[in-house]
Amino acid sequence: MTQAICLHCGAEKLGAFTPCPACQAIPSGEDQLAFSMALCEHLHSTRDLTVFAADIRAHRKLVFALGVLEQAREALKDKQLVAMLGMVANRTQQPKCSTVKADA
Ligand SMILES: [Zn+2]
Repeated sequence: MTQAICLHCGAEKLGAFTPCPACQAIPSGEDQLAFSMALCEHLHSTRDLTVFAADIRAHRKLVFALGVLEQAREALKDKQLVAMLGMVANRTQQPKCSTVKADA
């Protein structure tokens, strides 16, 4: 799966839209989804992600390069990519226990 970081706490996780292993946050809403897309390997190198993670932990405002969020929003329209990044678009709401693991 794709390496990503949590937009809330900066923890590393696998898949942009998977629950964060540290704070359990799941990106929701268009803005958070776009941010999460931007905060994964799809749009940035792991080195960049490390820098963003540090910024998030320090509560600094994230500054993306021009056009990155637009790219992220475009990428959100790609259903296959979104599914690959861990979005549970078609899954019906099932009560799951806290031990949700990436099924890779
Ligand atoms: Zn988190």
